[in-house]
Amino acid sequence: MKPQNDLLSATGTTIFTVMSALAVQHGAINLGQGFPDYDGPDDVIEAAAAALKDGRNQYPPLTGVPELRAAVAAHNKRFYGIEADPNSEVIVTSGATEAITACLMAVLNPGDECVLIEPLYDTYLPVVRMLGAIPKLVRLSPPKWELPRAELAAAFGPKTKAILFNTPMNPTGKVFTSAELAFLASLVEKHDAYAICDEVYEHLTFDGWKHIPLMTLPGMRERCMRIGSAGKTFSLTGWKVGYITCDRSLAPNVAKAHQNLTFTTPPNLQRGVAVGLAKEDAYFEGLSTSLQARRDRLAKGLAELGFGVLPTQGSYFITTDFRPLGFNGDDVAFCRMLTEEAKVTAIPVTAFYASADAPSHYARFAFCKGEAVIDAALERMRNWLASRSGRQLTAVAG
Ligand code: PMP
Ligand code: GLN
Repeated sequence: MKPQNDLLSATGTTIFTVMSALAVQHGAINLGQGFPDYDGPDDVIEAAAAALKDGRNQYPPLTGVPELRAAVAAHNKRFYGIEADPNSEVIVTSGATEAITACLMAVLNPGDECVLIEPLYDTYLPVVRMLGAIPKLVRLSPPKWELPRAELAAAFGPKTKAILFNTPMNPTGKVFTSAELAFLASLVEKHDAYAICDEVYEHLTFDGWKHIPLMTLPGMRERCMRIGSAGKTFSLTGWKVGYITCDRSLAPNVAKAHQNLTFTTPPNLQRGVAVGLAKEDAYFEGLSTSLQARRDRLAKGLAELGFGVLPTQGSYFITTDFRPLGFNGDDVAFCRMLTEEAKVTAIPVTAFYASADAPSHYARFAFCKGEAVIDAALERMRNWLASRSGRQLTAVAG
């Protein structure tokens, strides 16, 4: 048989699926894959359920149902002062995952360079490569995850077509500052590039940190494709409804990419999300307040167990250094051991890096879980550590 697609053959199954399967196999509490274990708002779910029954179940318009496009435009204006025409500057996709691919497809030609920031979400690199573009990776390093400005500037050049980056950032919990965004904007403008802005955690920020879309900076309105996700904003990750806001000069290509990927997104879910985006300010504030309390609960518990807990300003995730526990193996071995023995699952952070020289002593825990679940996970880890005290954790690393 002839070889199949080289890039896909060389790509592994996503770490989130691998670790979730391992969690099920070992009866572990899954603090790995980032999904809430509670449901989204009732009115959003009811609107989608009602929409299933009102006889509008055929293909919706390619770029999204009018009420959702209007809601996305209004949301942009309400939270960020971004003016966008719902008819020509908003495209609804089947999740942010599709949106990321569609935006990359819209601008990249084979041979173009695309700047990516490590640690990076696991779909970025394979998709850039599938399009024949050349990734230029710039690495943020723990524990501070600061933007290395000289390296970032050096990653841009005459062949740079785009940068794809994520704020608030998975897995680091970093929220880009206005100064960092201004620096990014200056590079994008100087090199006449586009910016694909993965902003799925836009409403999940803590301690007064505010998400700033790059699109709101001077000169960026025409260059940015801004991506949101109903999965994150309404705690409904299975719905897979994403939305892109971009200039009308970019939207036709983004829409044509969507046309070739999925063409449309289920209309009832779109109509539920339209109700969600129009929800009162208190909903959005409550979302971050309740997540912040979960973050604090998990962070405090992990620190008490002896983990080195890195600060999280946004997202669903806490990054931890497990070396203080006395484990000297790598993150993959640690997360496997934690799942098999402590019955708690986390994600190895090396999964967010492209090469083998990544820092390998960090594990990512998701805190978008019920308080009892967080407490139970901490209790399991406490008992496990107590049962192992005096013995080398490395001995079981395998
Ligand atoms: N980008 C980032 C940074 C994410 O963490 C996720 C996780 N879901 C996505 C994109 C994908 O979002 P969606 O589920 O809407 O496809
Ligand atoms: N975004 C989620 C995470 O980082 C996972 C989504 C997925 O499983 N593809 O955990």
